[in-house]
This record gives sequence, C-alpha cells and structure tokens, in this order.
Amino acid sequence: MIKEALNTMSDLWSLMVGLRVTKKYFLDPQVTVRYPWKAVSNIDSYKGHLMLVGGKKDKGLAKCISCGMCAMACPSNCLTVVKRKAPKPTPEEEQALAEAKAKGEKPKDKTPKDPEKFLYDFTLCSLCGTCMENCPVGALDFTGSPYLAGYSREDFHFDLVQVLKNQAAIEGVDESAAPEAGQSEA
Ligand code: SF4
Ligand code: SF4
Repeated sequence: MIKEALNTMSDLWSLMVGLRVTKKYFLDPQVTVRYPWKAVSNIDSYKGHLMLVGGKKDKGLAKCISCGMCAMACPSNCLTVVKRKAPKPTPEEEQALAEAKAKGEKPKDKTPKDPEKFLYDFTLCSLCGTCMENCPVGALDFTGSPYLAGYSREDFHFDLVQVLKNQAAIEGVDESAAPEAGQSEA
C-alpha cells in the first residue's frame, strides 16, 4: 500500500516537471519558421559547400593560382585542381624563345595561373576548412547557402571554375537589370 502511494507520488511529480517544461516553451517566443513559406534569417554563420573566390576586377576569374596545396591538404580527397596547359607559342614567340635560350636567359612562363578545372566532390567533403587554411592566396571560401539539393550523388560533383563563371554571369545580369519592387530574388 505504501509502495503504491509512493509510486503514484513519483508519477505525479514527473508529470508536473514535464508540464512545467511544456509551459516554459509554450510561452517562449517561437524560434522555428514555417519553411518554405518563410525563410530563416539567423543563418549568417552557416557553412555551405565550397566555392572559389573571384578576382576584384573580374569576379568570374578565380584568384586561385593552381598550386594544388588545398588538394594535398584535404583529408577526404575531394579536390582535383587541373592546371592550364601552356598556350602554343606563335612563330614570333618561338623565335624570341630561341634567342633568349641562346643568350642563356630563362624565358618567362606566360601560362595563366588560374585553373582550367577545379573539381569538387561535395559528397565527400566534411567542411573541415583545411583546404582554406592551406590556400596561400585566400581563393576558397564556404558558401552560406543551405538550399543545395539534388537527385543523385553526381548532382554534388562540381567544377568550381564553371560555378564561379555562372555566378558572375548571373550577378552581371542582375546589376544591369535592376529588379522591380516586390520581385522575387529566386
Ligand atoms: S573542407 Fe575539408 S573535406 Fe572539404 S574540401 Fe576542404 S579540406 Fe576537403
Ligand atoms: S585554391 Fe588555393 S590552395 Fe587550392 S590550388 Fe588554388 S591557390 Fe592553391
């Protein structure tokens, strides 16, 4: 009899504690939003997939110098940097090269430093940031985008050079054609 009474008291106490927690959160301001009708506003620190950073003059041209440090440092092997091949020299350039060699001078390498391709497998990326820490020119950053979605793993394989060019083209279009009031950003 005494044991049953103690059990009942204990159950009632648990119920009261639970109700107190429920009451507290019921009266607190709401922190969730009715997505997708309303977007969350507190995602400034969100780390999305990687992106290449564009130059100051040309936003579509990567700051990257194709050194490969990021790919070597990545613990998940999700980066492949494809360097540009040297352009075929013109006959005049060939002659100048031959003359420079004859004089014992070292000809200047005029190959553009930005990568031909910058392949990124987001399905393997742990967003650890090691690639960014090892980049000597600050050419990598996290996007703040939480809305990346796809139907297959391949949808998360990117050439970041192409992504940067597309993004710069979209921004260029947006700058030249100011959206009308009330127009959606998407
Ligand atoms: S964030 Fe980490 S896992 Fe992702 S690409 Fe960079 S180094 Fe690799
Ligand atoms: S992103 Fe940075 S570390 Fe990676 S290849 Fe380009 S310059 Fe080198």
